Amino acid sequence: MNLDPLFEEMGRNLQIPARLFLRAGHHRDDPGAVANGLKENELTIALRNDLAQALKARGVVVLVDDDADDLATDVQKIAQQCRPNDILLDLHFNAASPRATGTECLVPLAASRTEVNLANEIAKAAAQCMQIPNRHHYNGGLPKTEAQSHHGRLAIMRPNCHNVLWEVCFLTNAADMAAYAAHHRTLISTLTHTIFPYLHVA
Ligand SMILES: [Zn+2]
Repeated sequence: MNLDPLFEEMGRNLQIPARLFLRAGHHRDDPGAVANGLKENELTIALRNDLAQALKARGVVVLVDDDADDLATDVQKIAQQCRPNDILLDLHFNAASPRATGTECLVPLAASRTEVNLANEIAKAAAQCMQIPNRHHYNGGLPKTEAQSHHGRLAIMRPNCHNVLWEVCFLTNAADMAAYAAHHRTLISTLTHTIFPYLHVA
């Protein structure tokens, strides 16, 4: 997606509030990654609910996915409703070898400045909060694009808004998950502060 900067400015000038589409990667019948007795879908649903509650408390309009819907249905619903200055944040936990560690975000192949900035801020804040590596450092200080993902192209990157996919940490790494559990509450408030400026259009 290549967002025309002029259109982005128009949205701001018209004071259209940006909304957050917050999606739990993996629905009720799709566990996603499973390791260490944990299921990715249960973790992302819980994280989505906590983040949504915290952002709604600050006046942000948060639209969440239906846990009965699969990815294709979510993408279709979001694509129908989203506006160019809205944010779509898709929550995931990473999976690899037990030693792989850290947090990172993915953005579309032709990412907007907003997408890259938000992705970098989320990874930086999450890494500091959980005291785990910011994996953007292994990628020249940038988020990976969908082309660097396992799939090459991600359907969730197609709705016409700002799209960021956050891999919170590694489900397959016991130390990452311990850090996530230990810092969960701080992580919610830190992420709320990080995301809020992108949604509050003054
Ligand atoms: Zn996932």
